[in-house]
Amino acid sequence: MSVTETSIAAAEAHSAHNYHPLPVVVASADGAWMTDVEGRRFLDMLAGYSALNFGHGNRRLIEAAKAQLEQLTLTSRAFHHDRFAAFCTQLAELCGMEMVLPMNTGAEAVETAVKTARKWGYRTKGVPDGRAKIVVAENNFHGRTTTIISFSTDPEARADYGPYTPGFEVVPYGDPAALEAAVDEDTVAVLLEPIQGEAGVLVPPAGYLPGVRELTRARNVLFIADEIQSGLGRTGRTFACEHEHVVPDVYILGKALGGGVVPVSAVVSSAEVLGVFQPGEHGSTFGGNPLACAVALEVIAMLRTGEFQQRAAELGDHLHRELGLLVGGGSVEAVRGRGLWAGVDVAPARGTGREISEKLMDRGVLVKDTHGSTIRLAPPLVISKEDLDWGLDQLRTVLST
Ligand code: PLP
Repeated sequence: MSVTETSIAAAEAHSAHNYHPLPVVVASADGAWMTDVEGRRFLDMLAGYSALNFGHGNRRLIEAAKAQLEQLTLTSRAFHHDRFAAFCTQLAELCGMEMVLPMNTGAEAVETAVKTARKWGYRTKGVPDGRAKIVVAENNFHGRTTTIISFSTDPEARADYGPYTPGFEVVPYGDPAALEAAVDEDTVAVLLEPIQGEAGVLVPPAGYLPGVRELTRARNVLFIADEIQSGLGRTGRTFACEHEHVVPDVYILGKALGGGVVPVSAVVSSAEVLGVFQPGEHGSTFGGNPLACAVALEVIAMLRTGEFQQRAAELGDHLHRELGLLVGGGSVEAVRGRGLWAGVDVAPARGTGREISEKLMDRGVLVKDTHGSTIRLAPPLVISKEDLDWGLDQLRTVLST
């Protein structure tokens, strides 16, 4: 057996089979490139689902992490530490908001937003106890906790995990009338991805997000934007909501906030909304730890320059122009997305998304399939135009064979 096969066999024997990774074993990486245990190089066109927006081994982020590792790594929130205030202040400022509640993973931040909205509903809006409702969208992906999968519409994510958490109503994504009909006096929040990533990079119709903003404001309901995958530069703006000039009441952030180094997530909102929490009512041992804050502060500083957003916008225009040329030629049925983020629906005759991903792997490009025949492209924002073009060449070759 090869080193790769031995490693995969051992992983399969001793880890739960809750993933079906491509048969590649990565050992190191730099920028947009990864190297496997046998020395083969692969262009990373997934970027850890946007967690690696700034590329592998980004020097600024690694240096910030190293310096902090030597200084202080964890205090728990029982004590203050000297990176916390700067992190909260600067993240709130980047978001145009007032307060931050730091967590670690995306799902934890979504859970935190759900708890925030419910508490705000009872304490501030005056919803009768136990009646708070949150409206969500079909085909959403917000994480894997028991509560979050309770409002998933994906059977794979939900099956056998009941009993489910009540208090959620699902409406079709992009349908303003359905949303309006679902919002009632007990509704405390509308929770949406401004672009649905896992569903296949679905961009809602123009005007939908402004409509959600208008409705939620008029009905005293919080608009919670899950920008865990879409935010922090991916779409060519700091937030995907910006494309429609929308500012939600609550941002949920994760993935790229940790610079591909440590898990960092946060709920960011106004003092009125996040002010509902009192000591002891919510928390996390690792949330807002010094190492996380040090890395995230560097991420925030990098985003403040606007350089990464601009790169994503320019390279994204190029990516979408090139992908657009493939539509209608028999191999690609549709392309969606914004910035350096695309969902490509491959004609079923060309193979499943998984088969296309495996063929791309054989040609040195790593992508991820979703929902049958869709593949997602989300390279690190630091990818060079030459590398992006090379990746696109491989895709064209795979689709034509
Ligand atoms: N929300 C969105 C939009 C996501 O894309 C994801 C992960 O893919 C999550 C939440 C969950 O994040 P995590 O896997 O860090 O829990």
